[in-house]
Amino acid sequence: MKVVICGAGISGLALAHRMRTHGWDVVVLEKAPGPRTQGYMIDFFGVGYDAAEAMGLLPALEEVGYRIAEAQYVDDGGRVRASLGFAQFGATVNDRLLSLMRPDLEDVLRTHLPDGVDLRFATSITGIAQETGGVRLTLTDGSTLAADLLVGADGIHSTVRRLAFGEERQFLRYLGFHVAAYLFRDPLIEAETRDRYAITDTPGSQMGFYGLRDGRVATFAVHRTPDPALPADVRAAVQAAYGSLGWIAPRALQHRPPPEDIYYDQVAQIVMPRWSTNRVTLVGDACYAVSPLAGQGASLGVGGAFVLAEELERAPSIEAGLEHYEQALRPVAEEKQQAGRQTARWFLPASQRQVRLRRVALALARLPWFNRLVATSIAGKQTAVVARLARRSSPTW
Ligand SMILES: Cc1cc2nc3c(=O)[nH]c(=O)nc-3n(C[C@H](O)[C@H](O)[C@H](O)COP(=O)(O)OP(=O)(O)OC[C@H]3O[C@@H](n4cnc5c(N)ncnc54)[C@H](O)[C@@H]3O)c2cc1C
Repeated sequence: MKVVICGAGISGLALAHRMRTHGWDVVVLEKAPGPRTQGYMIDFFGVGYDAAEAMGLLPALEEVGYRIAEAQYVDDGGRVRASLGFAQFGATVNDRLLSLMRPDLEDVLRTHLPDGVDLRFATSITGIAQETGGVRLTLTDGSTLAADLLVGADGIHSTVRRLAFGEERQFLRYLGFHVAAYLFRDPLIEAETRDRYAITDTPGSQMGFYGLRDGRVATFAVHRTPDPALPADVRAAVQAAYGSLGWIAPRALQHRPPPEDIYYDQVAQIVMPRWSTNRVTLVGDACYAVSPLAGQGASLGVGGAFVLAEELERAPSIEAGLEHYEQALRPVAEEKQQAGRQTARWFLPASQRQVRLRRVALALARLPWFNRLVATSIAGKQTAVVARLARRSSPTW
């Protein structure tokens, strides 16, 4: 059996790993010219953590992971006004939590791919023809490729989804924010933000910083805007949205890289009535994006890939496997989307009054019962969907 996976991001690489392990011929198409080096910090727990453990990847991920002590909200003068301890949050998920840079997570997934995965960079799909029992794809280099199954793992703006299910506007739910992320070098900011996630304590727009072990700083910025349209010049848009922030923000803005090295997008979710049509299916942000504010998209990408591969392995037919995949994962993804919409309400306060309210709430979060409430609302419900499938699967490594 042959599968073509479109997208060598977190979901696509995890799926390639698992399907090759189960003996499929695997081709992965990635539009980028090579592995990504830019990125942002990801909290990784829940179904993705369970799946990484089942795939034998946890030791490699722990090696590249970071230990963040606290998220701290800092005012214009550099004073910490509120904080949220990661240890407390970790306890809620039984300490099954890693903080990873996105390129490091992708690197571990890619370098641990089993032999025989055909990974093609600078390649994408321009056409999909559904045939009896399979698909025939037209690629950007003009060639064609036949497979038993096509999986779109090509992110929130998925091309596979557009070609097989229709225009993006039918599925995209804009949450009212834009997000930007980039990496830069500044020894002063790195020293200020090492081992803590420092966030400006501001309404309407905020920048967060984390000092990396190689001396770089990762920044993740988010601002409210009613307009979902993306700006033509993202470098200028970042300056315009965050130029009024104080503390280390003006220095960080001076370090903005060229536009192609800035991640910039809408904060949105993808909601679809069905994830599969005939021999085309979707995984990760392409079909159930929960948004960056939910802090669980990468985890759901790896977890979803694992569930898809395991259900295909167990089912009597591809069609039945796709059905079981959606039945098992849809309730989990929908619950995380709900948690993501809730987080969006407090993640970035709309006014100075809401900033003060958040300070009070985070002070209360030091009380154990309230802390459990906050942590549970961020993490959402725990689920055994991956663990159940992992227990039933025989070890193959
Ligand atoms: C700032 C920020 C912070 C985040 N924090 C967290 C967090 O703390 N925890 C967490 O779990 N998640 C977090 N997320 C979300 C997480 O990054 C995404 O949910 C996750 O990357 C989705 O993985 P994916 O593989 O499905 O899609 P993507 O990561 O978008 O990967 C898609 C891949 O497909 C490729 N591609 C796209 N189009 C095509 C095409 N036409 N042909 C071929 N290839 C194509 C892309 O180049 C890319 O490699 C965060 C996101 C952001 C932006």
